[in-house]
Amino acid sequence: MEIINKLIDKSSLSALIERLNTSGKQVYAPVTKNGLCDFAKVESVQEIDFDSIATIQSAKSLVFPKVEKLLSYEKTYDDVIVKEVDLTKIPEVIAFAGRPCDAAGFIPLNAIFTSDSVDQIFKTRLDKLSIISISCKKADDFCFCTSVNGSPSNTSGSDILLTEISETTYYAEIITEKGKAILDAYADLFKDSAVVDKTPFVAKIDKQFSTEIINEKLKTLFESDIWDHQAMRCVGCGACAFVCPACGCFDIQDETKGKDGVRHRCWDSCGFKIFTMHTSGHNPREKQAQRWRQRIFHKFSYQPEQQQEFGCVGCGRCSRACPSDMNIAEHLKAIAVK
Ligand code: SF4
Ligand code: SF4
Repeated sequence: MEIINKLIDKSSLSALIERLNTSGKQVYAPVTKNGLCDFAKVESVQEIDFDSIATIQSAKSLVFPKVEKLLSYEKTYDDVIVKEVDLTKIPEVIAFAGRPCDAAGFIPLNAIFTSDSVDQIFKTRLDKLSIISISCKKADDFCFCTSVNGSPSNTSGSDILLTEISETTYYAEIITEKGKAILDAYADLFKDSAVVDKTPFVAKIDKQFSTEIINEKLKTLFESDIWDHQAMRCVGCGACAFVCPACGCFDIQDETKGKDGVRHRCWDSCGFKIFTMHTSGHNPREKQAQRWRQRIFHKFSYQPEQQQEFGCVGCGRCSRACPSDMNIAEHLKAIAVK
């Protein structure tokens, strides 16, 4: 749909959050506790940290929880009775005040879960999620959204994008039908607006490389020694995958007690040594360098080829979280000039 341009006073955000909660929606937003900022359920606008550059973890757990039940089962004498998850119990959720890269991250994640065959649990969660993001006024040295087709005021993935244009006012772009439903429900909180040039109100982030260059370079770099050099520091802890909005690796585990059992899905990482370990003991990605190569190839070669989406939105979370100081933007820059 064509973007609808509105304004909303900062003083009206309080009513918006309260009314969204009263309507039965669960509102998640960046909250800082003990110096750490992460998405958490909020009841009021006072709880929200509008100032953080990025939460430590992404918002992906709203649609792809760390651990979730896929089904339960009961073994009988000669059969197994399977009970599916009741999708009608999945709540309506608002992701509020995340950054444009948080919103953009749902696009490659959705491609992973719905391209080959549609994961109904994931799809239902995403269908019931509305995303109200806020443009970035500041960035840090880890942010590189402009190098991967994003920007501090990118509308991709958001249903509504707010941009602070004065001490009292946000410019509100209503981008999707979900965003319009929110506008229609709380129309009294919004005012009409002309199109606003967001450039003076958002962070400036220099473009360091392009996804197209990385994609092109990877065509000849599979056997390169660059992976050994870059992965030398990596200890294979998986933190980069867990904080990444676009990483969708998971494991499936059955927990059985007597005749009853539950099948769970939990986060996993292609950076873990046992991720590709065969039952025979053979591991096709024995070295950390091969696992690092897989991470980069998946995001910049396999995923765009198979699903027409790049698997990185330049949020910088993996670099901030890495205990070994691996900086993905620096490594991508090195690949771009290889
Ligand atoms: S967070 Fe750093 S050390 Fe851990 S797997 Fe990722 S790159 Fe390797
Ligand atoms: S790979 Fe790193 S920079 Fe890219 S989206 Fe994931 S966490 Fe963000």
